[in-house]
Amino acid sequence: MSEKKNPALKPRLMGDSRQEQSGPIRVLVTGGRGLVGRAIEHVVRKEGGAREGEEWIFISSKDANLLDMAETRAMFQRHRPTHVIHLAAMVGGLFKNMRANLDFLRNNIYINDNVLQAAHEVDAVRVVSCLSTCIFPDNTSYPIDETMIHNGPPHQSNFGYSYAKRMIDVHNRAYHQQYGRCYTAVIPTNVFGPHDNFNIEDGHVLPGLIHKAYIAQKEGNPLVVWGSGNPRRQFIYSLDLARLFLWVLREYHEVDPIILSVGEDEEVSIKEAAEAVVESLGFKGQVTYDTTKADGQFKKTASNAKLLRYLPNFTFTPFKQALKETCDWFVANYDTARK
Ligand code: NAP
Ligand code: GDP
Repeated sequence: MSEKKNPALKPRLMGDSRQEQSGPIRVLVTGGRGLVGRAIEHVVRKEGGAREGEEWIFISSKDANLLDMAETRAMFQRHRPTHVIHLAAMVGGLFKNMRANLDFLRNNIYINDNVLQAAHEVDAVRVVSCLSTCIFPDNTSYPIDETMIHNGPPHQSNFGYSYAKRMIDVHNRAYHQQYGRCYTAVIPTNVFGPHDNFNIEDGHVLPGLIHKAYIAQKEGNPLVVWGSGNPRRQFIYSLDLARLFLWVLREYHEVDPIILSVGEDEEVSIKEAAEAVVESLGFKGQVTYDTTKADGQFKKTASNAKLLRYLPNFTFTPFKQALKETCDWFVANYDTARK
């Protein structure tokens, strides 16, 4: 097939892939009751993030099991969204990933394939899905940028999640090539905030440390940080991520993904993160490190240069302020928090 006759072979430039929506806008948010979904709901409903005439629908697994294509299709037929923010996924911290790479691989592949196809079938003009900086190659140069997703194997601790998530980028390119769709993805770093999963075994490091410190304080025990404390992470507050998601949905017209991250200079060690949790909760006990536990990938330092080219003035909530708000939320909502 000649390049001239195949519009799919057009270069994927910004603006090249716009499909305009005329008429009412209905945004369906999958995973709408999770950490990121709740933050988006807050920005939409409490910060005036919704625009006049827009309808926002937040769904969870209770509304449809997205592992099942018939249920997924029925959900999309029922709501007929024009825009989709696709968050639903099997999600977990390092230790849950290490226990269940096969489940992370299969569940996320099914969910993503079902959601993207169902969105396409109802003619949704925009789908913004969610990748993660932890899917990047382990053996790499730094900082990592958006062009490097497929440049080598991910860290072995979470290869199931990583390969499944990388396929979203492949899906997006294929939907664009075959149907001209502008389905894209964002790449956040480690997210935290109110409504996180504070389960100690399954959750990410910050909610895990917050919950462990809360219990240790009550019981007069030391706070045990897992691993050496040396690995480094960039953290993003869920509310900052939510504000950026709305911008991506409305203003970002590339199929290629975009990293949503604080700067490289704001990367902290796990030890520094633990100290910040101690300070936020006013934890008075001893802090110890269990070096029999895994460290995971040492660092995934990501560049936010592309984001800053679009939004040079975006201000992230300072880490300590965001962490304090998260700790306060956890303490105030201890009985009902996911844990
Ligand atoms: P979360 O709090 O665990 O929320 C996940 C959501 O997915 C929940 O609403 C859950 O529904 C839904 N879900 C899971 N399996 C489902 C199924 N089979 N059918 C329907 N819904 C299903 O996760 P999150 O942290 O908000 O993550 C949101 C997105 O961000 C994910 O795509 C994740 O990969 C990505 N991400 C997260 C982080 C992070 O640090 N948390 C970092 C980078 C990227 P229920 O509420 O009913 O269980
Ligand atoms: P990752 O950023 O995708 O690797 O996942 P996590 O958010 O689970 O962070 C894992 C890093 O935090 C590793 O270096 C762990 O050794 C360290 N860590 C320290 N304490 C904890 C904890 O209580 N829970 C978790 N999940 N990780 C911890």
